[in-house]
Amino acid sequence: MNLIVIRYSEVALKGKNRNWFEDVLMKNIKNHLSCVEKAIVRKIYGRIIVETEAVLDKVTAILRFIPGIANFSVATSCSHDMSELAEKAVEVFKKPMEESVLKNPSFKVSTKRSSKETTLNSQQISTEIGGAVLKEFPDLKVDLTNPDLELGIEIWSKNRSILYLEKIPGQGGLPVGTSGNVMSFISGGIDSPVASWFMMKRGCKTTFIHFHSYPFIGEQSRQKVVDLVTHLSRFQPKTTLVIVPFADIQKAIRESCEEKNRTILYRRIMYRVAEAIKDRYKAIGYVTGEAVGQVASQTLENLACTQDATSIPVLRPLIGMDKAEITEWAKKIGTYKISIQPFDDCCTVFQPQKPEIHGIVDEISGDENNLDLEVLLKQTLENIEILTFKTKVEDKFW
Ligand code: ATP
Ligand code: MG
Repeated sequence: MNLIVIRYSEVALKGKNRNWFEDVLMKNIKNHLSCVEKAIVRKIYGRIIVETEAVLDKVTAILRFIPGIANFSVATSCSHDMSELAEKAVEVFKKPMEESVLKNPSFKVSTKRSSKETTLNSQQISTEIGGAVLKEFPDLKVDLTNPDLELGIEIWSKNRSILYLEKIPGQGGLPVGTSGNVMSFISGGIDSPVASWFMMKRGCKTTFIHFHSYPFIGEQSRQKVVDLVTHLSRFQPKTTLVIVPFADIQKAIRESCEEKNRTILYRRIMYRVAEAIKDRYKAIGYVTGEAVGQVASQTLENLACTQDATSIPVLRPLIGMDKAEITEWAKKIGTYKISIQPFDDCCTVFQPQKPEIHGIVDEISGDENNLDLEVLLKQTLENIEILTFKTKVEDKFW
């Protein structure tokens, strides 16, 4: 049976809510892992442990994507008995010593006791186990400051210890589901997937909404968004994508409103559609990938004009970032490669020659009154498409 020990990040700081945060994280881990062979997930001594027969690479690949996990280790466990600990320590070093390309790798043992049931203190345990490892592998040398290999030992209560060589970094942040629900406006661009990830990492359960302008925009751009959401769905247990047909609304805006206002009006109507369905998804905030001044529609005045059409806060986690910074994040979280595929977004349809960059709320909403919003929204809502995503083993992300 494989053992994985999970350490969580800020969850530990939540005082009285701690139990609840831990339970949400455990539930998320169970849900994410439900696609691999049976995995038992338990809470134990301020850690979450996973015991499973499943292929380790699959499990660790899934765990790396789960917000709320600070880091985790593939571990072996034994009692507090020093000879058993020494035996396990030697076992743990076998594989890296066989595979190591380093000539004389350096090592260190670090022990942490959360239980004082042992007679030896942490330092003494490290020294003794280090000695046993050295005896077995005389090529190793001790380096306490910058070792090639570091054996971690944790002494838990009830005569249980764990040993591990590596702490694999997780996403950090908070478990999805602990910070409320949001609807994220996702285009096929670089920014909005990153913005969505930031909010999931802060514990927001995220429903995605995408506006698609078929037949003005091709099927490939819809597929690109589906691919992006498939990737982003690895960060939360279950994901919904709402695809909204937008061509008729754009045509109506072209026919009835001022050319320069088009982009701002597209945005306002996007919000109006979201307003009509937000309660289905219990959304209490919207998310966009906007950054001040990045494009004409993102001046502060224009952001005020679009936000005017909403009844809940618009969250813009990228608001102060440069494109270069956002691009770095996109590469880190794995969305960049999908985002740079060259397929247009609906906002490019009937783009004005000279877009308004200093929109005035009253003027824009006056222009919007030229639309028969009620009829347009009704028709649009009848034709939305809803897709759901779950972590799947078939997804090749390990
Ligand atoms: P991105 O790189 O995120 O596509 P962008 O640089 O293309 O953004 P805009 O076109 O001004 O900038 O879009 C700003 C924000 O509006 C996006 O980050 C996204 O949140 C939202 N948005 C744009 N197009 C769509 C769409 N087709 N469906 C849903 N939301 C959209
Ligand atoms: Mg942008």
